[in-house]
Amino acid sequence: MRTRSQKHHKPAKPGKHPAGTGSARRVPPPIVLPRPSPENLRVVIWPADVLTTPAREVATIDPWLQAVAEKMKALMQEHKGVGLAAPQVGIGLRMFVMSETGKAQEASVWINPTLNDSADELISEEGCLSLPEIRGDVARAKEITLRGMNLQGQWVEARLGDFPARIAQHESDHLAGILILDRFSSVQKIALRKKIRDLEKSGRSN
Ligand SMILES: [Zn+2]
Repeated sequence: MRTRSQKHHKPAKPGKHPAGTGSARRVPPPIVLPRPSPENLRVVIWPADVLTTPAREVATIDPWLQAVAEKMKALMQEHKGVGLAAPQVGIGLRMFVMSETGKAQEASVWINPTLNDSADELISEEGCLSLPEIRGDVARAKEITLRGMNLQGQWVEARLGDFPARIAQHESDHLAGILILDRFSSVQKIALRKKIRDLEKSGRSN
């Protein structure tokens, strides 16, 4: 979130199972996401598919994932954001980083996060690093409880309000493939129609 290509993976060939009836049986291919080099990660711009696809649970916290998280913190600060979700760097995993101040060293990492929100909502303007030039009002719960794992694999829970609560909800949305565009009112979408169309065109031609 801002304040003011995914590669296709070839699925494994289905193997033959000698067990059972003796006839060949289709085995679903294992889901293996690409593991790009963390130093090559860049912020992905809409309409990339990875941004609109629900992310998968993180199965193991390993040095690669830790390096990805560090790179995400650096990119967030570099782009003057306050949060960044893994799909925004082309990685379809449930992880995001956030920092109210925008400083990488103050960022927290949330892996496989879930959140519970309160009924009270606040409307405020949001932008997104994956949607340059686009800003609009989004209603978010005023208070939330965020639960997830940190990079050490420990479960952490935090009660967040106002701005941090908004960041966490924005980033959690990314993990579900939801963008602020999906949260804008139809009136706002009409007002932003040209900007959205321009962004779509430039994205598709890349
Ligand atoms: Zn965003």
